[in-house]
Amino acid sequence: MLAPYAASDANTRGRVYPEPRPAHRGEHQRDRDRIIHCAAFRRLEYKTQVFINHEGDLFRTRLTHSLEVAQIGRSIARALGLNEDLTEAIALAHDLGHTPFGHAGQDALNDCMRDYGGFEHNLQSLRVVDALEERYAGFNGLNLTFETREGILKHCRVKLAAELGELGRRFIDKRQPSLEAQLVNLADEIAYNNHDVDDGLRSGLIEIDALRDIGLFAEQYETVRRLHPDIASRRAVHETIRRMIDRVVGDVIVESRRRIGQAGVTSIDSVRAQPEPLIGYSPAVAEQALALKRFLRRHLYAHEQVQRVTRQSVQVIQDLFAAYRADPHRLPPQTREQLAAVRPGEETARARLVADYIAGMTDRFALAEHARLAGSAPASRLNT
Ligand code: MG
Repeated sequence: MLAPYAASDANTRGRVYPEPRPAHRGEHQRDRDRIIHCAAFRRLEYKTQVFINHEGDLFRTRLTHSLEVAQIGRSIARALGLNEDLTEAIALAHDLGHTPFGHAGQDALNDCMRDYGGFEHNLQSLRVVDALEERYAGFNGLNLTFETREGILKHCRVKLAAELGELGRRFIDKRQPSLEAQLVNLADEIAYNNHDVDDGLRSGLIEIDALRDIGLFAEQYETVRRLHPDIASRRAVHETIRRMIDRVVGDVIVESRRRIGQAGVTSIDSVRAQPEPLIGYSPAVAEQALALKRFLRRHLYAHEQVQRVTRQSVQVIQDLFAAYRADPHRLPPQTREQLAAVRPGEETARARLVADYIAGMTDRFALAEHARLAGSAPASRLNT
């Protein structure tokens, strides 16, 4: 079933801690299953994508975003003869390292950590599956296969890559990851470009009229209006978005098939040796996708109402970091024990433990903690 250039049980580079092969599953299926059962995965339900969880029950969270990435990823993987289990595993794990409050939270934590090596959510996702989850008798982390970890680590500074050994090697040698990793990277973008249009319209922060200048939206919206002139606006939006996803996914499949054929790759190693990714949009759709991305940045992510919430959440992260750093007794017993084991003077290791603790929080837990430390009544929401 799998194409010769797909990742497979036969060509996996294996796990850091050797384990017997699973009896009734594939290696990447086991990875996917371990991710679904881990605590960081369940927390995604209460972590912000764009809109804070309490702003409405229908907006995407990190969890539903990750599920949509997995859905889009599997569609492309199956059409190209790639490994669906690996694709799904990478998709479900790709945002495990996200802080509460979305990108604002990550930027704030990065700022707090600037003297201690910084904070980067992508690297943190790897840290969650490699070290932070404590579930198995024989090792810390989930002991996932090389291919799943390779897919999670989307980007990495060369300086840091050197510290990551085999996994960081490709950023130094300028090589590619597996096709499954490449496609999840794109499926992530396809998912958020589309669901953010949906959530943006639902919130009222963007309007259909403004989107009429954006090719990807306008082409499908006009078709929907022509074919179904009488349907309600909400239904027309959904019909438009499903057609947008279909259009882009179809484009990626055709274009990637062409590039794979042209490159003549016959194995995962020849995929990794390519100078450029083989999964991608056609040039025309790449331009349209970029236009949509820019539109969302300008009209949704930079919208005053989103920014107002952002500013409050930055304050919450800064206050939590400062409070725990000033007085470790405010931390839970387990983190205090870990701090006690750090040798005096190792401030980077101490700060990292605090960052790990904050990064693991859900939005509402961070708000409750913030109120507890301030000695005020729990403010379970930010003002929107
Ligand atoms: Mg994502």
